[in-house]
Amino acid sequence: MFKNLLEQIYKEVNTLNLEGQQASYIPELANVQPNKFALHITTIDKKHYGIGDVNEKFSLQSIAKVFAFTLAYQLKGSAIFQHVGVEPSGNPFNSLIQLEQEQGFPRNPLINAGALAICDVLISELNNPEDEILSFVRKIARNKTITYNPAVYQSEKKTGYRNRALIHLMKSFGRIQNETENVLDLYFKLCSIEMTASELSKTFLLYANSGIIPDSPEQILTESQTKRLNAIMQTCGFYDEAGEFTFRVGLPGKSGVGGGIAALHPGKYAIAVWSPLLNAKGNSVKGMKALELLTTKLGWSIF
Ligand code: GLN
Repeated sequence: MFKNLLEQIYKEVNTLNLEGQQASYIPELANVQPNKFALHITTIDKKHYGIGDVNEKFSLQSIAKVFAFTLAYQLKGSAIFQHVGVEPSGNPFNSLIQLEQEQGFPRNPLINAGALAICDVLISELNNPEDEILSFVRKIARNKTITYNPAVYQSEKKTGYRNRALIHLMKSFGRIQNETENVLDLYFKLCSIEMTASELSKTFLLYANSGIIPDSPEQILTESQTKRLNAIMQTCGFYDEAGEFTFRVGLPGKSGVGGGIAALHPGKYAIAVWSPLLNAKGNSVKGMKALELLTTKLGWSIF
C-alpha cells in the first residue's frame, strides 16, 4: 500500500513545479543540490518504503531539537518546564520580539530560544554533553554511525548572529546558567547532526511507539511524556506555520532549514521527507506538499 502511494506522491509533487529557496544564512546549506527529494516511511509493524534520495545525508537542523528535548525531558521530568513553555510562538523560529516581552522565557523547546535553553540544561546535567547527546541520538536511531557535520557546524558558528542575540537576551534575564559561547557551541553541533531520510524515519518511530525504542525493551520517555512531546510537535513544530501544517497534514512533526521534515502517526508510522527548497517560513515546500498528499490520500490523520 505505502509503496504505490509514495511513488504516486513523489511523481505528483515533482510535476507541481513548487518554488522555494534554500537556506543561505548558513552558507554551507546553500551548497546542497536544490533538486534533492526523498520520502521514507517506517511503520510500527517493521515495514520500510522509500523513494528518491533516501540514502543521502542531510543536515537535520531544527529537527535535532526534538532529540535534545527528549534527552532533557528524560533527565529532568516535568521540571524541564521551568526552562521552556509549551505554547506555540506564532513567530519565526529565530524571533527576538516575544522573548523580550516575556522576560527571556522561551515559549517552547522547538524555537531557537527554547532549544538554546535546553542545551543550557544539558550542559548543566551532563559531564560531556557533546558526546552524550550524540550517543543518545545514536541509541534512539539504532545506528552508531550518526554524527555531526563539522563543515555545517563551523558555517553556523561563523554566522549565527541571531542565535547569539537570543542567548545574550536570555542571559540578561538570568535564564542561562552556563557560558553563552559553550551553549551556542552545543546548539550549533546539535543542528549539524545529519541523517538520511531512511535513518530519520526509523529514529522518529520512537515517538509513534509510545516512547519505546522499537525492537528493544528500552522506554526512553513514558507514554504520557511521549503524548506531551507529540503535542508540542503538533502545536510548535513548524513555528508560525504550525497551524497551516496541522490544517494541511494533521500529524505531529518537526521541520529543519536543511529541508527535512519528520512526522509521525502514533501507533502507525513515522515518515521523513527531504527537499532543500524552503518557503518563507523556513519549511520544505515539497516536503509539506508530500505529507499533505499522504494523509489526504490515506484518509488517516490524528484528527
Ligand atoms: N540551526 C538553525 C538556526 O539556528 C536551525 C533553524 C531551523 O532549522 N529552523 O537558525
